[in-house]
Amino acid sequence: MTTDFTCSRCNKSNDPLGSPPLGGELGHQIQQQICQSCWAEWVQQQVLFINHYALQPADPEDRKKLREAMKEFLGLTPAANQ
Ligand SMILES: [Zn+2]
Repeated sequence: MTTDFTCSRCNKSNDPLGSPPLGGELGHQIQQQICQSCWAEWVQQQVLFINHYALQPADPEDRKKLREAMKEFLGLTPAANQ
């Protein structure tokens, strides 16, 4: 594992994600900035979020809401806005 990785969310040198967790630029950005443990936190949070708002992952509008919540949770800059 590289030692010069610092997670932009927790500021720790945790293990980075081995591959982009999502497709597209956003997945790439997450891989560059977010560590495995912060991503794991989001994966758990995501389940709560989907249940709380009764989101349908098949619905584009709901996917958009989920993506916004994820960016906020992970503290991503709005650069990869897709
Ligand atoms: Zn982190």
